[in-house]
Amino acid sequence: MLKIDNVSKIINELTILDSISCDLKDGQIVALLGPSGSGKSTLLRCLSRLTSLSNGIAIYNGTNINDLPASKIGVVFQSFNLFPHMTVQKNLTYAPVKLKLMSENSAKEKADDLLTQFGLQDKSDQHPAQLSGGQKQRVAIARTLMLDPDILLFDEPTSALDPEMMGDVAQLILASKRDNRLIIMATHELKICQLIADHILFLDHGKLVENCSKTQFFENPTSMRAKTFIDKMKL
Ligand code: ADP
Ligand code: MG
Repeated sequence: MLKIDNVSKIINELTILDSISCDLKDGQIVALLGPSGSGKSTLLRCLSRLTSLSNGIAIYNGTNINDLPASKIGVVFQSFNLFPHMTVQKNLTYAPVKLKLMSENSAKEKADDLLTQFGLQDKSDQHPAQLSGGQKQRVAIARTLMLDPDILLFDEPTSALDPEMMGDVAQLILASKRDNRLIIMATHELKICQLIADHILFLDHGKLVENCSKTQFFENPTSMRAKTFIDKMKL
């Protein structure tokens, strides 16, 4: 379980995340919803340890996330952040080999397995610029799965892709689900939540205003803010 306890993030005296608390169970897909600017990316940046917390603590199965090895938490960024000068295979093998977590050979073997699983076996020697948006995203997800993270974070997984790819993205995220892996996906798309989320966190102005099951969120949200958000997004 990931216990987020009273987490705040203050930047230049501006409160970006305001005393967020919630317990997230392993093995589920949590959708982090909210309007643009509500703090979704900032919360993911805090959880991925790219930025520090101003207040509060996040504990994963008894360990402060700051003390977890880098490999435990994986992030797939909105813009994928692939290394442009490396081949697809090298994008996957670079970090595990550099961090001495895998030998070159076993990293290549695992990369080939993942690329095959994602239908990219023939792209192994190409560079990111030669790939479509959807293919880049699959490479980014495969790269993150190389280290088999327990917590997997996605920031706006559908935003860089055509709307008709929503179903494909949902399938990809579902494919990266496994026992005991917690997936948190920031999005403002209700459709992908309806397709794959188990649990919903809804942020507004840095505050957590809904923390509930998907069914409850869509059928009976408690806050006015979530109600208006759902109504607007349905239009
Ligand atoms: P979301 O991902 O929900 O759109 P963000 O987490 O990106 O929201 O941003 C939340 C708010 O924090 C926004 O108002 C944004 O301008 C502000 N913000 C985010 N990062 C910084 C930063 N490094 N410096 C100043 N303000 C920031
Ligand atoms: Mg964002």
